Amino acid sequence: MLLTKLFLFQTIRYFVIGGGAFLFLNKWAKLRFQKHRIQETPVTKKQISTEIKYSLITLLIFSVFFSTILNPSFGPFLKLYDDSTSYPLWWPLLSIPVLVFLHDTFFYWMHRTLHHKFFYNKFHRTHHLSTNPTPFASFSFHPVEAVFEAIWVLPVLMIIPIHKYSLLTFAFISFLNNIKGHLGFELSRGKARILNSSTHHSLHHRYFKSNFGLYFLFWDRICKTEGPPA
Ligand SMILES: [Zn+2]
Ligand SMILES: [Zn+2]
Repeated sequence: MLLTKLFLFQTIRYFVIGGGAFLFLNKWAKLRFQKHRIQETPVTKKQISTEIKYSLITLLIFSVFFSTILNPSFGPFLKLYDDSTSYPLWWPLLSIPVLVFLHDTFFYWMHRTLHHKFFYNKFHRTHHLSTNPTPFASFSFHPVEAVFEAIWVLPVLMIIPIHKYSLLTFAFISFLNNIKGHLGFELSRGKARILNSSTHHSLHHRYFKSNFGLYFLFWDRICKTEGPPA
């Protein structure tokens, strides 16, 4: 059953890659990476169990959502394709950065909306329970936020033809970017210029009022929300 397969796949990926990154940086190679730690606030077992609990609920919601829209009966409504001759050969490659750009734009504005006082306590506070996030917080959302985190892709797939392997590649890039944002350690060298950094998102968790972006910095720069604590 697709729902079970999707949930198992996403859960195993979350624990293997997210959990592996956490253990590697915090336990196995702790001394080597100590100086790359972004925040000194200790991470408690209670925080991690809360992050895992909400993440598993989110992964279940994602699995229900994707098993519904990827069901063959939903096929005629989507422009998802798997025949490489249907569109120019360069399109499957180009469509990946297009999906990343659309996701980044949607996320920035949804995220800023969720920080409005009307929505924050109801739907976004759950994600900010981790002020010093770990990779386990990557999917730690209120269930309503989890629905919004997934639903943007539906109109995109109804309007833009996307090859199924482009969608899978994008999904993997998105997953890795999410883990990077919640790493708790800054592994890139030099100042972030285009891409959002682990530091940017970690400081967003800590101070709430800046760095709303997901993949890139340009929306934060255009809207003057990049920054140090505000
Ligand atoms: Zn976060
Ligand atoms: Zn936020």
